[in-house]
Amino acid sequence: MSAHLYAEAHTACRAPADHAAPLPVLGSEVSVPLVTGGEVGYAALDYAASAPALQRVWEDVAAYAPYYGSVHRGAGYLSQLSTDLFEASRRTVAEFLDCRPEDQVVFTRSTTDSLNLLAAALPADCQVFVFETEHHASLLPWRDSPVTWLDAPHSPAAAVAALESALADRDPHGPALVCVTGASNVTGELWPVAELAAAAHAHGARIVLDAAQLAPHHPVSVRELDVDWVAFSGHKLYAPFGSGVLAGRSDWLQRAEPYLAGGGASRTVARAEDGTVQVQWHTGAARHEAGSPNVVGVYAIASACRALTEAGFDGLVAREQALLARVRAGLAQVPQVRVLSLFGDDAPRVGVLSFLVEGWNSSHFAAALSAEYGIGVRDGLFCAHPLVRTLVGGDEHQPGECGGGAANSADRPLNAIRVSFGAGTPDEHIERFVGAVASLVRDGARWRYRTEAGRCVPEL
Ligand code: PLP
Repeated sequence: MSAHLYAEAHTACRAPADHAAPLPVLGSEVSVPLVTGGEVGYAALDYAASAPALQRVWEDVAAYAPYYGSVHRGAGYLSQLSTDLFEASRRTVAEFLDCRPEDQVVFTRSTTDSLNLLAAALPADCQVFVFETEHHASLLPWRDSPVTWLDAPHSPAAAVAALESALADRDPHGPALVCVTGASNVTGELWPVAELAAAAHAHGARIVLDAAQLAPHHPVSVRELDVDWVAFSGHKLYAPFGSGVLAGRSDWLQRAEPYLAGGGASRTVARAEDGTVQVQWHTGAARHEAGSPNVVGVYAIASACRALTEAGFDGLVAREQALLARVRAGLAQVPQVRVLSLFGDDAPRVGVLSFLVEGWNSSHFAAALSAEYGIGVRDGLFCAHPLVRTLVGGDEHQPGECGGGAANSADRPLNAIRVSFGAGTPDEHIERFVGAVASLVRDGARWRYRTEAGRCVPEL
């Protein structure tokens, strides 16, 4: 797998090159109030949830806005222009993902939507294989199919071995699908996608890559990874306008009923002699894109794809790895911090990292980072409950108190804290974060917090 991103990331991880400036993003000038007084520039360190829009994406969208028109519907000039832009965006995304010529790019609302679309298009009795470590968007859509749940593996090699063994036990004649994430939204660790794809194909199964956390950080080549489908979301790829992508093989998609029934997906609709309404559905991507398309969201995704490609992933990866190394080194100086990891310290990873702080309720810690330092992180189980529970372990107890009451509700006994960053993150945000963690652990919070709806909030 020498040309493969897993190995490339590994190299980048160990030897970060000199890094250039962050890409301009919206919000970099925004200041937020501190409970302790004054204001500070907001440090957005929750890219894994939603990344800020690239300035370039915003400018492209603004430049297009006056020309906005309906897609695939109108005869007017602006409708034609919008349709052209929409279809050109499809080609841009296909290029960005290095798709095969016969692959189809379907625009959706998000990764969740893309995976639900694929789930609805699976052939009857398709056996689905999913690791328990997946984000809920990859874990849950397969409700109508038999699912084999795979335990959390403790190394990339163990993941491949577990999949091999599960696939070897399956009926080799029926259809099967493996769903795997490219980069964990909890640990940031990269999964051995090419090897898992090879294992899937060796056993006659197909594979879909959840690239929600991978695509913003690394080039994704459908061809090189040899995955059958890939899904990602615009809002994690610096294009927060409500669109997502499912790209890959068209055969199962074409044989399936349209994901949504309605205009756009239907070619002809007529009353039959028996009085029923008969429909001929479109083939191609339109089959699963019923309703008026989100041309702004789609154009924004294409703009982000172009911007990242032009900026160059080599530099972006090197820069992000340098920031990651700084975060890891900073946290390593604080013995009370436990970084969550499935594959161990040497595993290649993207700029996403979750941790616990001994003696602290995570919600309290995250609230203090925000209120006292202007740093936006996330606390919780990150829509990956089985994984976080596995990583945290059963015997870990967080203080339930946050000022006046229990911060964790009964069904959420444990939280972790997640910091995540990317192409728009300046060094100062990382330095502030590392300093704030050390200060909070050393000196404690400088403010009082209380519990509101299960979360810690500053007393105001
Ligand atoms: N997959 C992973 C790995 C994610 O991190 C997320 C969101 O956090 C999703 C899927 C779902 O993405 P969306 O909420 O955009 O549908």
